This record gives sequence, structure tokens and C-alpha cells, in this order.
Amino acid sequence: MRFVHDTLPQRVRFATGAAREGLAAEIDALGARRVMVVAGAGEWDLADRVTAGLPVVHHHDDVVMHVPVEVAERARAAAAAWDADILVSVGGGSTTGLAKAVALSTGLPIIAVPTTYAGSEATAVWGLTEDSVKTTGTDARVLPRAIVYDAALTLSLPAGLSVASGLNALAHCVDSMWAPRTDPINQALAVEGVRALQAGLPLVGKDPGALEGREQALYGAYLSAVAFASAGSGLHHKMCHVLGGMFNLPHAQTHAVVLPHVLAFNVPFAEEAERRLAAAFGSRTAVEGLAWLRDELGVPRSLHDLGMPQEGVGAVAEAVVAAAPAGNPAPVTLEAITELVRNAWEGADPR
Ligand code: NAD
Repeated sequence: MRFVHDTLPQRVRFATGAAREGLAAEIDALGARRVMVVAGAGEWDLADRVTAGLPVVHHHDDVVMHVPVEVAERARAAAAAWDADILVSVGGGSTTGLAKAVALSTGLPIIAVPTTYAGSEATAVWGLTEDSVKTTGTDARVLPRAIVYDAALTLSLPAGLSVASGLNALAHCVDSMWAPRTDPINQALAVEGVRALQAGLPLVGKDPGALEGREQALYGAYLSAVAFASAGSGLHHKMCHVLGGMFNLPHAQTHAVVLPHVLAFNVPFAEEAERRLAAAFGSRTAVEGLAWLRDELGVPRSLHDLGMPQEGVGAVAEAVVAAAPAGNPAPVTLEAITELVRNAWEGADPR
């Protein structure tokens, strides 16, 4: 056995119903005295709840999805003006992303309190958008020093958004089984992530206000982010990236439509991954397990429904073949990928 795995240095605290206490302990451990809270307008109430009684010098609510550079600059200026010595982000991936942009240029530590299943808190990846072009990079400074997970903070996330971002996390797990830097550690985390998401998401869909499903989904989302950050982007993510870029399709729904097709495409060439994914889904085959979950959650089935034009199939297939990671289990030919994209466009059963 030979492989190299980087484990990112970060403390993770699961604290259902006790985010405030957990956050206070993490701030103490870092010796911080001047907290800048980053939380968007929709996350304000949650942030107020978890930062009550902490040494907060500034609340920053100027959060915009995909972190436009001017938004990052304003947040950096606020951190300097208030002489903050720590950033506490309370919110989804957009909020975590803004805290990361500040940490990137200032080196300030971040404690992340996530309120969605995006998973940005467990990666060292930052993203900034300028003139509609998003640039991403990896930098150790942006990795939050600690994460405080409290499933009670996700109860207000609407069911549709919860299921969509949960399926995105599931896609991270499945793709991690064959992504360019996949290794036994990533795979162990990914299959446990699938098990947790498969257990949690149907409960969240049925009863968004119940904690049990939320806890499993949050735990699974964390594992998915750790696996994905280490394993990198596999065929599925390359394909979604191409689709998103060409047709501006909705991110999470695109994942939900494409994933069963990539899974069915790869499993005949990835027996071990198939066996482990099937076990994690608790089903006879991985494809059946994902089909069950998709039906249970009632997610969209075709790229056609998401607004992709049929004449785009050929261009997507060509771009996917060009971008496909070397070492994908199934041979990536133009013919095979064209069929896959056509099936996903039609909403045909995955083959
Ligand atoms: P988001 O952060 O944009 O949040 C979506 C909406 O949900 C917002 O309006 C927010 O106010 C609201 N919201 C958040 N938590 C809530 C709660 N508990 N209750 C009610 N409303 C709530 O969406 P997201 O999917 O979490 O993050 C998407 C962004 O994160 C994208 O920009 C994506 O590129 C980025 N991302 C980055 C990484 C990384 O590793 N750098 C990983 C995943 C996602």
C-alpha cells in the first residue's frame, strides 16, 4: 500500500444545541479578544444567538454569493478599522467564503459556524469574483482553525435548499471514490458520508424541523467536504462545471441530475467503489441506492427541465472529454460521454 494523504489541521466540534458554548470555548482557546462576526442578513438571527456574550467588536452583514472582490475589500477594511483579532463566520458557504477572503489577505484566524451543508468550512479553498469571473485558489491561511457544528442552526434552512445542498454533498462523496487524489482515507470518509446523508436527507425532506435528520445530514456534509478537499474533482464535478459554465444551470439541481449518470457510467469499472457505495446506501447496487434516494427526495431528473438546450449536448460532451481527469475508472471517449450527456438531458434511466 502506497499513498500520500494530507490531513488538514482543524478542530471540529459537534455541539447540537450548544453552539454558543462551543464557540466561546474555541475563542478562549485561541486567546482572541476582538471578534468580527461575519453573517449575511438572512443569518443575522442565528449569529446573534451564538455570539451573545462574546467580545464582539463588529458585525459584518455585507455578504454576497461568490465573494465579489469589492465585497471582500469592504470586509477587509472593516476588520482593519475595528482591529479584529479573529473572524467568526455564521452562515452558509457565501459567508464562510467572505471570511476566507479576509483571512487570505490578513492572516486572521477563522472560527466557522456553518448553517448549510455546503462544506466550505472544511476546505482551504478560497474563491473571489471579479467582472463575473470567479477565481479560486488554495491557501492554508483560509482554513478555519475550528468549526462549530450545531444542527439546531440548520432547522430554519428551507427543505428545498437543504435537500439540494445535501445532494451536492452526496456528489462530493461519490466523486471522491475515483477523483484524481482518491486514497483509502478519502474513501473511508466518503462512504461514511454517503451513509449519513442517505439516512439524514429523507428525514430532512419529510420533516425539516426535526433534529435527527439534520444532525446526520450535517455530519455527512462535513465528511463529504473533507473527502472532496483531499481527493479533488472527479468526472462528475468536471461535468457539472462545464454545464454550469456553458448554460448557467442551477448548481445543486445540476448535480442531482448528473450524478446518477456518472455513477452508472463508472461502476462497471470500479467494482470495489461500487460494493462500498452500495453498502453505504444499504441497497443491492449503488445505482439502485441513489435512484431510491432521488425518488424519495423528488429531485429533478433531466437537464432539459433545467433549461439546457438539446443542441448543446455535443459541445458539452467535447468540453467534458477535454476536462476529464486522467484515471477515471470508465474510459472517457467522446461517444460514451455524448451518450451520457444525452441521457441526462432526456432524463433517461442511468446506464
Ligand atoms: P449560501 O451561503 O449562499 O446561502 C444560501 C441562502 O441561505 C442565503 O440566503 C443564506 O442567508 C441562507 N441561509 C443560510 N443558512 C440558513 C439557515 N440556517 N436558515 C435559513 N437560511 C439560511 O449558500 P451555500 O450553498 O451554503 O454556499 C454556496 C457558496 O459556497 C458558493 O459560492 C460556493 O461556491 C461556495 N462553496 C465554497 C466551497 C469551498 O471549499 N471554498 C465549498 C462549497 C461551497
